[in-house]
Amino acid sequence: MANPTLILPNTINVGTLFPSRKALYDAGLHRHLMAGISGDEEEGADAIVISGGYEDDQDKRSDEILYTGQGGRDEKTGRQVADQELTRGNLALMVNRTQGLPVRVFRKTARGYQYAGLFSVQDAWHERGRSGYRVWRYRLVATGVGATADALVSSSQDELGGDEASEPARKRSGTTVRMIRDTAKARQIKRRYDWKCQVCGTRLVGPAGPYAEAAHIRPLGSPHNGPDTFDNLLCLCPNHHVLFDLGAFTIRDDYSLIGIEGALILDPKHALKRAHLAYHREHYGW
Ligand SMILES: [Zn+2]
Repeated sequence: MANPTLILPNTINVGTLFPSRKALYDAGLHRHLMAGISGDEEEGADAIVISGGYEDDQDKRSDEILYTGQGGRDEKTGRQVADQELTRGNLALMVNRTQGLPVRVFRKTARGYQYAGLFSVQDAWHERGRSGYRVWRYRLVATGVGATADALVSSSQDELGGDEASEPARKRSGTTVRMIRDTAKARQIKRRYDWKCQVCGTRLVGPAGPYAEAAHIRPLGSPHNGPDTFDNLLCLCPNHHVLFDLGAFTIRDDYSLIGIEGALILDPKHALKRAHLAYHREHYGW
């Protein structure tokens, strides 16, 4: 069966209630009766259920969700008793993250399982959960498809928050909803490196001038809360920016690379904070 998310994005209205997991299953909206993540490692995840069963889940807002991957949990107590692996549903959600595929979200409520809309998987990483075991974490953001206009507005206001309020972040629509943040510091870091990638040295030039991307080592925004400072910024080509954000490579304290060959090209006056490098290695590295 083809991925229903891609073919029929609008066939369920947000707010639709399903009385039980079996009802979701019978409607063809979720492939399992117990597991939270529906999908596979080829096509990605088509649906997730947020039941509040994981001690590390955070779902306090309507338009943004911190979702914990599956596995490693004691069925009786619900506690983490082992590390989660990047397999099955966890890997399926990483496929969504990599390919920009949206996922349907159903929330458990007192009356049943309610459809919350299509969400994009904007970030994926691992960390030590409250029990000390590794859990996979996913930041899901409402795509606005089937969501209310209010939810979409509050989402972009939040992204703009703080001292960057004067720097408009533009949202590009499409299957991958990507925030483009070009702060004053981001522009400066690109100028400092003359728009050359700090990994491969490539300098891309379009009709209107050079193009590069500023990458935050410890990501901005909740829950990472990295700073918009030079010691947390890199100038990268789009390919290496994506690979860095996906965790395909990370950086040692001596600026050699893990995951790909080579070392970071660094201006002698540009010092990176070791804590930020460690954060990226610990949450995105392998
Ligand atoms: Zn590059």
